[in-house]
Amino acid sequence: MSREALIDALKREVEACRKCNLWKNRTNVVVGEGPLNAEIMLIGEAPGKVEDETGRPFVGPAGKLLDTLLLEAGLRREEVYITNIVKCRPPGNRDPSDYEVKACTPYLERQILIIRPRVIVALGRHSAAWLYSRAGLKFRSITRERGGVHRIVLGYPLLGDYVKAYLIPTLHPASALYNPSYRVLIMEDLKLAAQLIKKG
Ligand code: URA
Ligand code: SF4
Repeated sequence: MSREALIDALKREVEACRKCNLWKNRTNVVVGEGPLNAEIMLIGEAPGKVEDETGRPFVGPAGKLLDTLLLEAGLRREEVYITNIVKCRPPGNRDPSDYEVKACTPYLERQILIIRPRVIVALGRHSAAWLYSRAGLKFRSITRERGGVHRIVLGYPLLGDYVKAYLIPTLHPASALYNPSYRVLIMEDLKLAAQLIKKG
């Protein structure tokens, strides 16, 4: 099957999903967007208000800041694939629970195996902690982990269905709305992602 067909099938499943209680309050699921052959995949936490209303990831205030930080790092939003750990909005933007993350991340794992990114940027603590755990790495805190880069393997190596990628953990753009000093740190982490793909 083509990437398009695989992502379409995934989208239809997520749209019908009721595996955790977050389906009850959603207006739209937010599956993700971007070129299906993107070399960089950005993984955030969960849809917020504007994302829930539009069905698109990172289109609210944090998304506007993310677009700017990407540009400063030499990347256009249109060239990266953007998604989240959970696909429905938690009420009041609370953190997703462990149960919700467990219920939803099989979709993300499939998505990663379809897109096959060379670089994965984890936006924020939740995303980074989940990716570290999947990759068998020990996560301390996002402020201690950011600035680093790890070589990781995700998927099913014994079955030949896996992705080798660089994992770059960074701060969440929403936190940089209130802490302007975080902006340059996120920009530097995105620049590192850009350098890794340009190196080939
Ligand atoms: N914050 C996220 O983590 N994801 C979005 O899509 C929007 C805001
Ligand atoms: Fe399903 Fe994920 Fe939405 Fe929960 S958050 S209902 S697991 S799509």
